Amino acid sequence: MKKIGIIGGGFAGTMTAIQLIEKVATPCEIILINKTATLNKGLAYSPYSDRHLLNVITSKMSAFPDKPSHFLDWVMSQKRFKEKDPKRVANSFLPRQLYGDYLQDIWEAAINLAATKQLKLTVIEGFVIDIEVSENIISILLENELKLDVNYCLIATGNHNPRNPTIKNMDFYKSPNYFQNPWLVESVTNTKENLPVLIIGNGLTMVDTVFGLLENGFKGEIYSISPNGLNILPHGENVQAYSKLVDELDADLSLYELLKLVSKHIKLAKNFGISAEPIIDSLRPLTQKIWKALSEKEKTLFMSRLRHLWGMARHRIPLSSHNKIHQLRMQGELHINSGKLIDFIENNDFINVEYFDKNLRTLKTLKVSRIINCTGPETDLMQLETSFLKNCLLNGILVQDHLKLGIKTDTTTFQLLNSEGKNHSNLFTLGSNLKGELWESTAVNELRVQAEKLAENILKMHDHLYPSH
Ligand SMILES: Cc1cc2nc3c(=O)[nH]c(=O)nc-3n(C[C@H](O)[C@H](O)[C@H](O)COP(=O)(O)OP(=O)(O)OC[C@H]3O[C@@H](n4cnc5c(N)ncnc54)[C@H](O)[C@@H]3O)c2cc1C
Repeated sequence: MKKIGIIGGGFAGTMTAIQLIEKVATPCEIILINKTATLNKGLAYSPYSDRHLLNVITSKMSAFPDKPSHFLDWVMSQKRFKEKDPKRVANSFLPRQLYGDYLQDIWEAAINLAATKQLKLTVIEGFVIDIEVSENIISILLENELKLDVNYCLIATGNHNPRNPTIKNMDFYKSPNYFQNPWLVESVTNTKENLPVLIIGNGLTMVDTVFGLLENGFKGEIYSISPNGLNILPHGENVQAYSKLVDELDADLSLYELLKLVSKHIKLAKNFGISAEPIIDSLRPLTQKIWKALSEKEKTLFMSRLRHLWGMARHRIPLSSHNKIHQLRMQGELHINSGKLIDFIENNDFINVEYFDKNLRTLKTLKVSRIINCTGPETDLMQLETSFLKNCLLNGILVQDHLKLGIKTDTTTFQLLNSEGKNHSNLFTLGSNLKGELWESTAVNELRVQAEKLAENILKMHDHLYPSH
């Protein structure tokens, strides 16, 4: 019986397992390994607060590429939504916790389906510390010394903790008042009232963390520092789709030509009183193709000059959240600064934060009680303290792309490339590990398609190798 091991049971790992369960026609064992009890939901859909909202509207969050209204239909079938207007629900940003419940429901349905097939489904709560790869077998080693041999192994490890920013005193990061993982509830509970909190970073996680602090009774001031200051935009309501830019897109455009074209359309739209939002959104289905066509030099240029602008246009928040952030700023409860961190020095009573304020062009200090890192997931495997992926990189099982955004992978088969540039026959990945290859490879929108294709691919490969099954 073929064994398929999946490391990571967040959205990507779970949905690949579900696609395998649905499509498999021959006897097989699927082993899903997840390090925490957040099976099926992963980091994004097991938040500590129901004020943490999806950043995509309900009608676009189906877990299945071929059933676009699946999430909306599920929501409307829930008791508390029965009386609601489906059109309004379709266009609203629902709590991420609710999406976690949806994934849980889909998973339970898949378990029932598996029981009707010649399928063994094994779920292991454990932490993978290494893998050994040979031609036919991959051995997965867990922290509790369990060793599992599988025929195919899928790495669906998702998002890593943020990197510790460089400061003079890197030892500070051992402090119990530093929270490297902003997605844990501990980062916003048991705060001291008399001193402010510092959030490093000004993106979507900063917004979630501000709401988390308030919800948990924090009444002090909140500061946030990032290189560019506040640049979060809200999602507009009932924004019309814009198709003119895509009509003019040519496959061979250079980064410079592409920029010129986008600027032209932003100006054109402005004349009609339309914002840049639908123009950037119109590029979304083509982003992976555009990224793949760029040269390494252009990708490097994009990362150094345009990444920030792209992130701002792409990662918007619901209007209600945006309004709340502005209200807090006007009330003097939230201070958002553009600056460069220099040092954190802790004594018994407080942490002294030294930074260079970019707007005031001067060195500033702040006294805070805790520091929460909201700079976004680390992508460079060498920066991770411990990870089996780092081991794999060091022993040549995998290689990173030149920008260290992810793992080099054949994106048609999802097979990892080894240090000699050859495809592994039995080792696969998807999701954020493909960021270097595809740039956009983290949202449900992309992951649901990858999960389906990857499941089909593994099953096809197996049937080709063992036609007698
Ligand atoms: C806070 C947040 C909010 C988001 N909101 C949205 C949204 O609204 N809409 C949207 O489309 N996308 C959103 N995203 C993007 C999100 O990354 C994807 O939608 C999706 O959840 C990613 O799933 P994943 O399985 O790749 O990763 P993850 O959710 O990170 O899951 C990976 C899993 O692997 C496990 N794991 C990792 N290493 C090991 C190991 N060594 N051994 C065993 N298990 C391991 C982890 O415990 C985890 O459960 C959000 C992301 C974040 C971080």
